[in-house]
Amino acid sequence: MGRWVRKWPVEGHSGNAYVVAVDEFGTYGCSCPRWKFHRAECDHIRAIKIRRAVEETAEKVEMIVLGFSEDARIVRKPVEEKKNRPRKLNDSARMVRAK
Ligand SMILES: [Zn+2]
Repeated sequence: MGRWVRKWPVEGHSGNAYVVAVDEFGTYGCSCPRWKFHRAECDHIRAIKIRRAVEETAEKVEMIVLGFSEDARIVRKPVEEKKNRPRKLNDSARMVRAK
């Protein structure tokens, strides 16, 4: 077990406050009895995992949106790339005809 690198306060169903943490290896832990005594993934850990997945997805979407607008600007510049395109188009056209 590595050291905890990030912690989140959570509230259990009974209103108890617990702390979910993740260590440097990505292993989750919780201060609730379910995890402490049984080392079983509890609802708190699951909730944090979902929350992080949502956050990471939002970050990725943001990067894609930002990257896309930057690419769109760059793609217009090189004209040379277009020379290779007709060959590719013919190849795919042939494939379509072969079917
Ligand atoms: Zn828990």
